[in-house]
Amino acid sequence: MPMDFGVEEFGAGKTKTVSMQFINIAHPEQIVNFSQATLIGLGKGQGLFFPQKLAPLDNIRGLLEMDFIHRSSVILQTLVGDAMTPGQLQGCVARAFDFPIELRPVSGQVFALELFHGPSLAFKDFGARFMAQCLATFRKNQHTTILTATSGDTGAAVAKAFYRQPGVDVVVLYPHGKVTPLQEKLFCTLGENIRTIAIEDDFDACQRLVKQSFDDPFLVSSLGLNSANSINVARLLAQVCYYFEALARLPAGTRPVFSVPSGNFGNVTAGLLATAIGLPMKRMIAATNRNDTVPRFLSSGKWEPRTTVSTLTNAMDISLPNNFPRVLELERRHGLPLKELLTSFSVSDAATMDAIRTLDASGYVADPHSALAWNGLTDRLEEQETGVFLCTAHPAKFVSTLETALNRSVPLPAELEEVVDKQVLSTRMPSDFTQLKRFLLA
Ligand SMILES: *Cc1c(COP(=O)(O)O)cnc(C)c1O
Repeated sequence: MPMDFGVEEFGAGKTKTVSMQFINIAHPEQIVNFSQATLIGLGKGQGLFFPQKLAPLDNIRGLLEMDFIHRSSVILQTLVGDAMTPGQLQGCVARAFDFPIELRPVSGQVFALELFHGPSLAFKDFGARFMAQCLATFRKNQHTTILTATSGDTGAAVAKAFYRQPGVDVVVLYPHGKVTPLQEKLFCTLGENIRTIAIEDDFDACQRLVKQSFDDPFLVSSLGLNSANSINVARLLAQVCYYFEALARLPAGTRPVFSVPSGNFGNVTAGLLATAIGLPMKRMIAATNRNDTVPRFLSSGKWEPRTTVSTLTNAMDISLPNNFPRVLELERRHGLPLKELLTSFSVSDAATMDAIRTLDASGYVADPHSALAWNGLTDRLEEQETGVFLCTAHPAKFVSTLETALNRSVPLPAELEEVVDKQVLSTRMPSDFTQLKRFLLA
């Protein structure tokens, strides 16, 4: 692939020889490069990897004029350093980000950034597909088994990202009967190198089985286990890129306010990371559902997680947001003024339903997560400010909530239409490690 993306001009030429280090936040003595961080996933003592130093991008205006793939390659090069050559990186970016992003005006100065046009119809495609490409680059010729647990969206993004990748087998565990029928059709009908297991228990049980598997040295070595977990730093870095794309689509000089529907706070971390390297944004609103550990923390200074409750925005039903230590690290280590940049609010299910209806009345159909982000933004935007809310899932993925809110049917996009009549290929299994192990080794 030709390297025609202005390597020298944008300072990425320098990064060819710069080695970027990733530090384990919990154990700062563990320092690795990007390829090790991606392959290891989680550091010692369950610590998260995060860039040790950040190099600000120069010529932001020039960068915003580039197309998405070239710009994203330049941005990611400054984050991953010499762990990948510019050619390798650009190839990974082009193969991972092979679907469009849309920025739609919704009302006045408010825009919807649609991140759900990938194969699994959720923004998680950005992270999962980029990570899959990185693993393919780094793992040499070893056979790999990706074992992951999902409550819905991650499983589909991971399965689609690794589908038909040579030398990789994927096993996805999900709670039987607890993902929507359409979500199930998206990742349980693929076959080939994708195997899915419906566990007769809840999501926590699925996650326990995955952890037990990783604690079994024989399984890990004989299968080459990797988790494609959402805390993998490769997934996080990929998400930095679409914040810049939003800026590129807005009138020159706009410094928008972003509203992000938040659960594990990966998306918020990526936006703040983008700001730390030069994204000109005004501030960020992290909108949560009733699981409001972070809004309460930001107003009281006390970290007091409560029991997780179920809401309409089930991808955000999390009371222990995995990525929050990275947000704090951005302030502590990289000097980001969090108080100025980040506020967080909790939105009720009733307000989310209202938001779906209000948006629909103005001609925009949003899924519950995206509608919640719009609610977080709409009353808090000051005059003269431009707001962008992130749309994280396609509305059709949450068709039953939308039909309840709007009292009419919602059409399915081609990706769902295609799979709706296909047979689910999953194996059903009780929550039993011995049976899972036998299945994996068969
Ligand atoms: C995962 C997910 C979120 C939450 O994103 P985080 O990065 O975990 O905060 C929001 N909306 C949808 C549709 C999701 O799948």
